[in-house]
Amino acid sequence: MKKILIAIDNDFIREAYSEVFKKEEFTVLETKKGKKALDLAKKEKPDVALLDILLSEIGGFELLEVFKKENSTKKIPVVIFTQLEKRQDRQKAMELEAKDFVTAASISPTEIIRRVKIVLGEQKSYRLKVSKDTNAIKELMKDLDYRPDLSCSKCGANLELCLIRDLSKGRSHFIVSFVCPNCD
Ligand SMILES: [Zn+2]
Repeated sequence: MKKILIAIDNDFIREAYSEVFKKEEFTVLETKKGKKALDLAKKEKPDVALLDILLSEIGGFELLEVFKKENSTKKIPVVIFTQLEKRQDRQKAMELEAKDFVTAASISPTEIIRRVKIVLGEQKSYRLKVSKDTNAIKELMKDLDYRPDLSCSKCGANLELCLIRDLSKGRSHFIVSFVCPNCD
């Protein structure tokens, strides 16, 4: 059984996430306070931690830095959580070597499970560089309602083809999407 630390300030979101992770048979440790999150991480050694940027006492970024310095916590993979998407926050999360960055506004509870499982290496994913000149790629993008020029609407970078294994259906089933190497 995998153990997840969910340190999120917003009660409603924290409880909703807790619920879905329990259904997926995770052991859930939850708190809205930074110090408690650090204590839980040291004592319980979760397999993964979801840390809110806006925790009281110690924020998620600061916690992530503390985690990296302590022997007992430095191997815990961290997913940074925030309610609002801010480009500089995403960048900071990556600089501090967070494993992922998720925003409440753009992610459903089911999606959060998928993202965490990817971090845990339980849901294999592949990212492939593709050319927009390939007819099959053009067709696929049209099919999935993406911009036909294969560029990210936020930063303009070339999108990559992303395959994520859908374990619920078996090893050879993948969910296909196009993702930005900078923004996703
Ligand atoms: Zn982008």
